Amino acid sequence: MTSDLKRELMARKERMLTDHLAGRGIRDGAVLKAMREVPRESFLPPEMKFLAYEDGPLLIQEGQTISQPYIVAYMIEALELGGAERVLEIGTGSGYAAAVLSLCAAEVFTVERLSYLACSAEERLRELGYRNVTVHLGDGTLGWPEHAPYDGIVVTAGAPEVPDTLLEQLAPGGRLVIPVGRSQHLQELVRVRRLDGGELRYEELCGVRFVPLIGAKGWGD
Ligand code: SAM
Repeated sequence: MTSDLKRELMARKERMLTDHLAGRGIRDGAVLKAMREVPRESFLPPEMKFLAYEDGPLLIQEGQTISQPYIVAYMIEALELGGAERVLEIGTGSGYAAAVLSLCAAEVFTVERLSYLACSAEERLRELGYRNVTVHLGDGTLGWPEHAPYDGIVVTAGAPEVPDTLLEQLAPGGRLVIPVGRSQHLQELVRVRRLDGGELRYEELCGVRFVPLIGAKGWGD
């Protein structure tokens, strides 16, 4: 990357932080700090790096997307992390959100169903030094029971309904943030909180647009 492009990306990143994140209500200092630290350009194909701090999702490999920076920040803020949590992410994609999460939580487990994406994200996260992230290839609608329970679970693809498997892996006091909708491409972002007594509380946060969550407890292939 040329030094001119590096300088331009740093300026665009500052604009992302002030205009697209803080300017739209992201308040969690740890999330803003992580969004400043993680180089989104390193998670994009070479020809798209110059778009890294644009205010939108971008196409990555395998017909999938890296989510809009604002949505990444919003979903992580909605997990209400203090830094000591174990978090499960479903939908590793490029690994970008996992990297941001890794700076806001103690341990991150992330599941991707497409092997090319899982392998390249794992390699990228290792090269960039995100040591508290573990990538798993599999059907994330089933969660990752071996490491459960989780204090936070975030799903970055749209589900037809909240998978019971993920609810079972949510710790008392934990939060699950997931796009849910009857259409494969239009959802409501839902937060489910497991109260200390075990009871579940559902909240609708906002309308979102994600690629479909495909699997045993998601949409069919
Ligand atoms: N978090 C990603 C990032 O930062 O680049 C963006 C994720 S992209 C919007 C959604 C991802 O979910 C895709 O990579 C897709 O292959 C994956 N996905 C869909 N269904 C899945 C499933 N059942 N288990 C795991 N991953 C799944």
